[in-house]
Amino acid sequence: VWTPAIASIDLLSCVHTEEYLKNLLNGKINDQEQRRTGFHWSEDIVTRCRYETGGTVLAAEVALQRGLACSTAGGTHHAFPSYGSGFCLLNDLAVAAKYIRSNSSSKRKVLIVDLDVHQGDGTAFIFKEESCVFTFSVHCGKNFPLRKQQSDLDISMEDGLEDKEYLSTVESHFPWLLETFRPDLVLYDAGVDPHWEDELGRLCLTDQGLYQRDMYVMKTAASRGVPVAAVIGGGYSRDIDKLALRHSIMHRAATQVWRECEM
Ligand SMILES: [Zn+2]
Repeated sequence: VWTPAIASIDLLSCVHTEEYLKNLLNGKINDQEQRRTGFHWSEDIVTRCRYETGGTVLAAEVALQRGLACSTAGGTHHAFPSYGSGFCLLNDLAVAAKYIRSNSSSKRKVLIVDLDVHQGDGTAFIFKEESCVFTFSVHCGKNFPLRKQQSDLDISMEDGLEDKEYLSTVESHFPWLLETFRPDLVLYDAGVDPHWEDELGRLCLTDQGLYQRDMYVMKTAASRGVPVAAVIGGGYSRDIDKLALRHSIMHRAATQVWRECEM
């Protein structure tokens, strides 16, 4: 178990604007902006989000060294460079991808696999001009955000989709993405909000379906020697114990992949 450092302003500024970061840190976020994020501003929530981003950066670094790493937070894909949205204040996936790219002479390529039920609109926007970061989003078409951004590959799902169809869709795209894009790192957003009991999801995956999905993504990449850093993404239930258990599916799948691939 590793402990992340808080994300510095310098690190965050590779994605976010100076003005936004200044306002966010000083609590100069007006009511309308707070409504868009879904959070009441507080110093604690900003600190939490900075650690969360540090955790995703650390997971990416550890994944590059060891092949597979998971964070117990992360996946705040709705944050844009100059504003927060949909429970996301800082875009940890984008910061980690930029950090990993800037910290090597070879300019590593990053594939972001976003299987949270909502489209990764902030991430898609941030990397729309960057050919070395590929954004792949599988989401429910009728779900938030109403106005979608364009990822490098978007797969829009119908309401009510179940395990089998969902998994076969992911399986029909992921291998060729790995083969054609040839990433040096996969950043995997394993949101559990496609679960049938999720309060916002609109899809109908089971616990077993989520487990199979997470196994599939991590094992397919790891067995090809592509490092994977996974984050928990979204999940909405008033029952926190149930939700925590659901988020633990990714960690269990990762443990299984670690054993099976003898990492
Ligand atoms: Zn979500």
